[in-house]
Amino acid sequence: MSRNVVFFGPPGSGKGTQAARLAMSLGIPQISTGDLLRAHVSRGSELGRRAKPIMESGALVPDELVTEMLRERLREPDADAGALFDGYPRTLPQASSLDALLSEGGRRVDVVIFLDVPEEELVTRLLARGRADDTRETVKERLRVYEAQTSPLAQRYQQLGLLVKIDGFRAIDEISDEVHAAVAAVPVSPS
Ligand code: AMP
Repeated sequence: MSRNVVFFGPPGSGKGTQAARLAMSLGIPQISTGDLLRAHVSRGSELGRRAKPIMESGALVPDELVTEMLRERLREPDADAGALFDGYPRTLPQASSLDALLSEGGRRVDVVIFLDVPEEELVTRLLARGRADDTRETVKERLRVYEAQTSPLAQRYQQLGLLVKIDGFRAIDEISDEVHAAVAAVPVSPS
């Protein structure tokens, strides 16, 4: 049995926090492409050198690079029981790639958790966390990129009947309870 959950929502919506909590309780890994990319940047790999300026600008790293990185991560044995995807997919081609990668192992996306947070709150949160790529200008750009390239995924997953929209502008525990219930309610992939 394998459980594959996508956390979807704008930057600052709490995907990382909620994915980490669910990972603890289900015992399956949180896979954050942002964290994987930052690890490449800090160890100065070829991918890291290419990704760094793109990440600093608030734009998206090219699909092929991120998807290849994800393919490798999914080969690690801890992902056999499934994964919580945090920050991937971010484009329609990435969503198709994720379906393809999972189907190689007889799996599929079981549910997509959409964390809904008002834009003013996102800006406040992103500026407060003070990450290197969270300056006022990149925050604006990251939100713009989200609207243009990532938000169309909501419709895709809605049509597939996989989208569960959760109000992300509440106490963290309340959100976690709802996330947990939403994930518990869906049947898991057979393999
Ligand atoms: P995050 O930590 O998820 O906010 O990601 C930080 C940055 O890494 C993003 O602004 C992008 O530049 C890059 N990134 C992370 N995940 C992806 C992805 N799935 N596709 C393209 N770029 C990504």
